[in-house]
Amino acid sequence: MVGREGKCVICSAPSGAGKTTIVHYLLRQLPELAFSVSATSRPMRPNERQGVDYHFLSPEEFAKRIREEAFVEWEEVYPGRFYGTLRSEVERIWAAGKHAIFDLDVVGGLHLKERFGPQALAIFIEPPSLEVLAERLRQRGTETAETLKVRVDKAGLEMETADRFDAVVVNHALDQACAEALDLVRNFLRK
Ligand code: 5GP
Repeated sequence: MVGREGKCVICSAPSGAGKTTIVHYLLRQLPELAFSVSATSRPMRPNERQGVDYHFLSPEEFAKRIREEAFVEWEEVYPGRFYGTLRSEVERIWAAGKHAIFDLDVVGGLHLKERFGPQALAIFIEPPSLEVLAERLRQRGTETAETLKVRVDKAGLEMETADRFDAVVVNHALDQACAEALDLVRNFLRK
């Protein structure tokens, strides 16, 4: 990385644990944060926008960026579905004088934590239970029975990595989880 370096706030969780909602809350509360828009090769959902939720790339474009070493980290989060953090995205945020906030899966979160060391705060958002998580995913209505099972199975494994993060926020009640996360991030950015 070149130029001025800011900090990194990493939010990781099993899919459906509420991390995206918490990340959006933190962005509203803390104007010094900017969202790091990941790249992905998965198809766009109806409510999503190109360059806002993700940089949606074709599998070929994604592979090309990997070869060009354009990613700080990338991963095949689900079979055939790639996600990654572009180096240019982090540089853009830091050049604007902001700190970057990331919404990543657990493996990606731990990779970034390793990469950025003390510059990063890695928060694990934990769902109250796998049953609650499955119900939230069902209600979100974005999954088929098959992709839901994949996500819940993966979540079980991801819960085991919680103790490798700097902090854990259990999302029993969203308001409280948001407040806890805000406290953690405020303290980290003040340091
Ligand atoms: P979704 O398809 O529901 O948007 O995201 C699936 C998973 O991929 C989520 O856990 C999300 O946080 C994760 N993800 C999003 N962007 C990245 C990224 O840049 N790198 C990694 N490793 N995971 C990501």
